[in-house]
Amino acid sequence: MRLGSGPPVRRADASAQDDVRRANLSAVLRLLHFHGPATRSDLVASTGFNRSTVGSLTSELVKLGLVRERPGEVRGKGRPSNVVEPVSTSAHVLAFDVTTSTVGAARVGLGGYMLQMRRRLHSAPPHDVPAVVELIATLVAEMQARAHPASVCLGIAVSVPGSVRQPDGLVRRSPPLGWYEVHLADLLRDAIGDDVPITVGNDGDLGVVAEYLRGAARGERDVLYVRGEAGVAGGVVVDGELLKGSGGYAGEVGHLLVKPGGRLCSCGAKGCWEAEVGDAAVIRSVGRDPRESDIEDVINDVAVGNRRAIAGVRKTGEWVGLGLASLVNIFNPRIVVLGGTIGALYPTMEATLVQGYARTLGPNREQALLVRSELASDAQLVGAAEVAFADALEDPAGTLDARRGTGGENDEPAQVHELRALGS
Ligand SMILES: [Zn+2]
Repeated sequence: MRLGSGPPVRRADASAQDDVRRANLSAVLRLLHFHGPATRSDLVASTGFNRSTVGSLTSELVKLGLVRERPGEVRGKGRPSNVVEPVSTSAHVLAFDVTTSTVGAARVGLGGYMLQMRRRLHSAPPHDVPAVVELIATLVAEMQARAHPASVCLGIAVSVPGSVRQPDGLVRRSPPLGWYEVHLADLLRDAIGDDVPITVGNDGDLGVVAEYLRGAARGERDVLYVRGEAGVAGGVVVDGELLKGSGGYAGEVGHLLVKPGGRLCSCGAKGCWEAEVGDAAVIRSVGRDPRESDIEDVINDVAVGNRRAIAGVRKTGEWVGLGLASLVNIFNPRIVVLGGTIGALYPTMEATLVQGYARTLGPNREQALLVRSELASDAQLVGAAEVAFADALEDPAGTLDARRGTGGENDEPAQVHELRALGS
């Protein structure tokens, strides 16, 4: 997946004319998908293509049904420039976010429009894999039934809190869910019974993709995202590229060792960062029992000014800051986006967090801006949706032909899709 909505890559060296055409079509569709409706003149200015090229690319996208044109407003003399806009009912994706208590689901149309959203409590414990697979398959059927009959489903992407192997979407381990070696992509493909591409990704990776493309980190090239929940997830974008590592496990920040000999972590080790700052630790820090209280109780306590809760959250802030400092030292991000519980409680823990953070940081401290997630609990759904749109944004005509079954060489059955990250 090429992240980003920046200026198009000019492919002057491409040997085949087809490649140039595909890249140019991709550049125009990407702009409309990420930035919304634009006049033809805007497209000329943003892409650097000439008027006739923009006209012909727009016509091709109209023919594919992906965009439509309407007359623009008359300003001053001359003919108004047509406004080009993405058609949200022409193509859509389905995004899922599996957490310890719920499965979130969204049908997202081209242009990033949230057409439908659902969040269902697990009816069975989350470690009951077949029950979760069945719930997702049911939600797929429900959302597909509501989609416009002519709309093409481009893909399905699922966020999971754990280590997910790429490219095959095998969940290696998810301590919060109690999942180990779960072939989630394969199980979903069998349950859904369609040949729609399926991607399974880590919640931290999908969170950073979302904040980078559509949230608090828009316009930045180097981003660190941290989501505090039952565990602590992380995702890193380096110079506009999602950092995956050799197996797809990069960014497993929750198991950063911060306190040798510390509390037992769900992974089996002691002193991991998430054992100090995950939801259970936060609940304990305010004097509550994680078996009886959940994180919402803490957030409510803090909101009503409960002193013990505020003191506990501030104490946790020191540990959050300590872990963040190590990560900022490694990645030198321009912006650090805090999501989940850490984002929700950031205003309360800000002072202690910044203290712990500043102590171990050198000059890179002033560069790394700390912000709360803009997308909050929707980040994983937004990120999953963008991953599922990636192929169509890369090659609009080819992908659409393949999904509509009109492509010659491309109509291979059932695919499991890698969470790909391509630089520009
Ligand atoms: Zn651990």
